[in-house]
Amino acid sequence: MHAREKERWRGPMSETSQGLLQRPRNAADTDWRNYAACRNVDPDLFFPLGTSGASLLQVDEAKQICRTCPVCGPCLRWASDIGAAGVWGGTTEEERRKRRRRASRDASSAVNQGRFP
Ligand code: SF4
Repeated sequence: MHAREKERWRGPMSETSQGLLQRPRNAADTDWRNYAACRNVDPDLFFPLGTSGASLLQVDEAKQICRTCPVCGPCLRWASDIGAAGVWGGTTEEERRKRRRRASRDASSAVNQGRFP
């Protein structure tokens, strides 16, 4: 990747996200983050600036790493729970938002159909 192209991919990342991805590894720790496939990857890759053009290539590259990750499930749940920005658990922020809306709609539909009390 060209340096200029990589530079375009860099976006602001919250201190929380930076801290999360750059935590020191503790072998005795059972925290899922210690097994993240992205531990040694530039964190900026997971925080695209936009949703088109070069950002789409960046998202694809981040998702490729997620597809190899043994803790994709916990990562996705964590990101969904806190409403994290960026690519987590193989999904973008928008994709997670859509999943939440769909789940909410499905739950409402189930209640309306009397499937839940
Ligand atoms: S699923 Fe992706 S973002 Fe989450 S820990 Fe694994 S590689 Fe990192």
